[in-house]
Amino acid sequence: MSDTYFTSTGGWIEVICGVMFSGKSEELIRRVRRAIIARKRVQVFKSHLDERYAGLYSVSSHDGRTVEAIPIDSSAAIAGRVDPTAHVIAIDEAQFLDQGIVGLATSLAARGRRVILAGTDTDFRGEPFGPMPQLMAVAELVDKLHAICVICGSPASRNQRLIEGKPARYDSPTIMVGASDSYQARCRHCHSCPRADEDQGKLL
Ligand code: ADP
Ligand code: ZN
Repeated sequence: MSDTYFTSTGGWIEVICGVMFSGKSEELIRRVRRAIIARKRVQVFKSHLDERYAGLYSVSSHDGRTVEAIPIDSSAAIAGRVDPTAHVIAIDEAQFLDQGIVGLATSLAARGRRVILAGTDTDFRGEPFGPMPQLMAVAELVDKLHAICVICGSPASRNQRLIEGKPARYDSPTIMVGASDSYQARCRHCHSCPRADEDQGKLL
């Protein structure tokens, strides 16, 4: 992975994107660990941090320094908690953040920070997710990771949403009260998200 970019004159932006289970968090943590080994001061933020992941984001260096992820749910919350002495700012689950993250990442990079953002670039419909397209555009480095399609074993580039075990329809609400929804990694060809037009046999 391309985490060797370096400019002696200023900061830059790196984006790690891809479907769920493609290893974005693993890659973010790997870069954070290497930055700590390089004796950089690192801050990690994660939107939608839940208990399951809290331990995972406890990244320790050999000399005993530990970095914990700070839970945040907006770009303003990150701006309010940025440590002015940090060299590296890493942000996971960036797709859930507001568009303000684009300006914040840009201004942090302009002020000499290395900014690493990880996030799912497409939603369950296969369409661009939140601020990810803009972040990918302004970044110096973009790595698009793939998972393994659970149906055919090809590289997976789509998040398959299932509601009660069936493919979620294109217009299904983001939150289904009382229904169980789950996600799988799938390739383009095994991904399914039926639209009303398709029911009538029309091509899009
Ligand atoms: P992401 O942050 O992209 O959701 P993670 O770094 O949390 O991904 O998890 C990646 C890990 O998920 C892989 O190392 C692998 O062990 C596991 N995994 C589970 N399902 C799959 C899949 N369908 N394809 C690839 N890896 C998978
Ligand atoms: Zn497939």
